[in-house]
Amino acid sequence: MASVRTRFAPSPTGYLHLGSARTALYSWAYARRHGGRFVLRIEDTDEDRSSRKAEAAVLEGLHWLGLDWDEGPFRQSERRDRYREVLEQLLADDSAYRCVCEREDLEARKQADLAAGGKGIYDGRCRNLHLGPDCGTHTVRLRVPAEGMLDFDDLVFGHSGQDASQIGDAIIQRSDGTALYNLAVVVDDLDMSITHVIRGADHHPNTPLQVAIYRALDAPLPAFAHLPLIVGESGKKLSKRRDNVSIQQFRDEGYLAEAVANWLVRLGWSHGDDEIFGLDDITRLFDLANVGRSAARAELPKLEWLDQHYIKALKGDDLFARVHPHLERVAGGSVQDTPALRKLLDLLRERSKTLVEMAELARWQLRDELDYQQKAVQKHLRPVVAPLLRDLRDGMQTLSDWSEGALQKLFDEVADAHGGLKMGKLAQPVRVAVTGGPNSPGIFETLEVVGRDRSVQRLGRAIEMAEARADAHES
Ligand code: GLU
Repeated sequence: MASVRTRFAPSPTGYLHLGSARTALYSWAYARRHGGRFVLRIEDTDEDRSSRKAEAAVLEGLHWLGLDWDEGPFRQSERRDRYREVLEQLLADDSAYRCVCEREDLEARKQADLAAGGKGIYDGRCRNLHLGPDCGTHTVRLRVPAEGMLDFDDLVFGHSGQDASQIGDAIIQRSDGTALYNLAVVVDDLDMSITHVIRGADHHPNTPLQVAIYRALDAPLPAFAHLPLIVGESGKKLSKRRDNVSIQQFRDEGYLAEAVANWLVRLGWSHGDDEIFGLDDITRLFDLANVGRSAARAELPKLEWLDQHYIKALKGDDLFARVHPHLERVAGGSVQDTPALRKLLDLLRERSKTLVEMAELARWQLRDELDYQQKAVQKHLRPVVAPLLRDLRDGMQTLSDWSEGALQKLFDEVADAHGGLKMGKLAQPVRVAVTGGPNSPGIFETLEVVGRDRSVQRLGRAIEMAEARADAHES
């Protein structure tokens, strides 16, 4: 068997679409699994929508996911002469013909045919006119056989196809001389010796016509694998308005590339009950035989679960490097690598579903000014806690070392001095005092991270806030 060659053929839309990313991942994985080659081809014939910038965004999305290609990017816009050559060949051997029917007239005839119970396909008016190149403005149509099946074996959907009589002679070259998608894709897949065409199920209905083109060119069919649709959590078609469909957006929302790749590979493929697949596992295990036909739901909780899994597993340096841009955004400026920050990030691993969430949870460490949560302040910084906080602050100032153990001892002493107070009664006001809110890692760890000077200063501010309420009450 010829060695495997797959391709990814995105239209440059300005971002990498979720469904396209899954297609790319499967095509890449299939090539890698079988020691084959993965080709990248940009389908940029729609000039209005295509630009190098839009292409770059697609490539950037692939890079981010960790997908590499062996050949390309090829661009359809650079292959126009080749399509013209093939069209000439099809015309020369009478597999295609020139058509001078005009658009409005075609439409009127189609409507009349539909009204009369016909199929609305081209009526073949120019089919046997044998028009030459001097026939004026014209399109080129493929001479599709009047009967027989245009069929193929799909590795996912099984034997597929359409009766040739349902298709009619399709246009393969526009009147401006440019090739249509169905022709270009077949010429490219042939020239690039693609053995496995792996793409979204939305292209399944295009394939019979492509089969007709392969036959007209007397070329063998590649294997086809159409991938099941991806739907939103609601089960409805993904919509740009309702759903996040851009890989770059997932990145910006703080998801790790490995989590997104792992999530994508499971949108349509399974390997027993396994859920965790790194790229290495994917290249080792992925196979088209285990791709299902039913639509796959893009469930965000699943992605969050995976992301948390990978966040927990990241090495410290790697975690720091990846969360760093998000930290700087929250800080509103540059963020230094310090042991305290490293410690905090470690503490936050368990609590963070995304890097963005992690950075948000570190806000009290990143900015000197705290954002106080008013509800927590109301509840925990009451006038009665002022004396407790004062004793703690005074004790902190003279604490021999700033460690969890020493802090714990200080808290015990202050609790005893105030009639055997429960630790929670002490911890929560302190937490609000040093983080501005009621949630943070363990209080001693939190204080250790905040550091002595800032803890003392923040307790001072909290004491003022608590006392101010007493004053307000009295006056
Ligand atoms: N350019 C097409 C798309 O982005 C893919 C065509 C193909 O894979 O054959 O949907």
